[in-house]
Amino acid sequence: MPSQLYFDYNATTPCAKEVIESMLPHFYENFGNPSSSHHPYGWLAKSSVEDSSLSIAKNLDVSPSSLIYTSGATESINMVLKGVARKMRSKGNHIITTKVAHKAVLDTCAFLEEDGFEISYLDVDSEGLISLETLNQTLRSDTILVSILYANNETGIIQPLDEISKLTHQNGSLLFSDTTQALGKVAITHVLDLVDFACFSGHKVYGPKGIGLVYIKDNENGDSLPSFIQGGGQQKKQRGGTINTPLIVGLAKAIELACKNLSEETRRLNNLRDALEGGLLEIELAVSNSTKLRRLPNTINISFSYVDGANLLTALSRQIAVSNGSACNSSSVEPSHVLTAMGVERSLAFASLRLSIGRFTTEEDINKAIEIVTEEVAIQRENNILWERR
Ligand code: PLP
Repeated sequence: MPSQLYFDYNATTPCAKEVIESMLPHFYENFGNPSSSHHPYGWLAKSSVEDSSLSIAKNLDVSPSSLIYTSGATESINMVLKGVARKMRSKGNHIITTKVAHKAVLDTCAFLEEDGFEISYLDVDSEGLISLETLNQTLRSDTILVSILYANNETGIIQPLDEISKLTHQNGSLLFSDTTQALGKVAITHVLDLVDFACFSGHKVYGPKGIGLVYIKDNENGDSLPSFIQGGGQQKKQRGGTINTPLIVGLAKAIELACKNLSEETRRLNNLRDALEGGLLEIELAVSNSTKLRRLPNTINISFSYVDGANLLTALSRQIAVSNGSACNSSSVEPSHVLTAMGVERSLAFASLRLSIGRFTTEEDINKAIEIVTEEVAIQRENNILWERR
């Protein structure tokens, strides 16, 4: 394991030991195919998958029939957006999302635009929130879907889903929320009541990579979304392919652990986050990009003027793992689309850090992180002639 402090839990999390232990028997002893209906190997695997679905459903307070396993949140997003578009095309071809959506949503929307769908991208204010009034004005009789990121992966800002749900449903449109970052950090069950579709990802909640979920509220008959991957008829024909027993068992364990001590963990993370943010805001001219009260308890996003963002990240990477935007986008040379949508000036957006903490972050880590970032920002500024002349 690298020796750097890990402050990038929104990018991914380590697999919990209990999760690994829960999966191991399903690679060898219980290796059967859940679709093999003629022998005990298949029966055993099938019952492990059913137990996992029951456990996830109980922890999320939803019906097991509302859960479809995918390879992760990106696939889930593709399945919902493309599925609704295909299914509802005769009703309309208008979809609403926001400029701060995750790239998985934005890229899928771009794909749908090429296919003749019209997408409206809602602006956000300087705090990262959409305007309900603008949403209301943008909804049309042919709007089939509204897709809203619940908790932003870069800033942690949480959108007002109660009101969004009301407006969307009053208009007769469906609501999808990308809830990937919220699970295990804040209570999620009431959110699932408000939406028609949601998505989750195992590796964001101390589970394995390569497994995720689509939540489909009304899926009793398995026909709420058309088949996304054809072949084999698995998962009510909505997503073909051999069911991945070990990863599903691991996902169920990860969700069980994430929901177990949620309110305590939320409180603990909140305190650590406030200490981290408070410490970093002591740096001269540091500005927080996540100032709203309703936000994830583990995420901060801070800009430092008079600093070259790329140099800062490179220097920090020797001691601490942080990010300056979406991890899925880290090779891009464009500043974060989330921060630019919030009106953060380009150079300041480049000179921003997202620090996301998690289950294994300690108070000592927080103090070290403050020290490291404070020192590096000072070094970067010493090398910047504009800092002297400011
Ligand atoms: N949605 C959000 C909000 C995310 O943060 C991520 C991961 O960065 C994804 C979707 C994609 O998740 P996955 O890696 O499971 O495809």
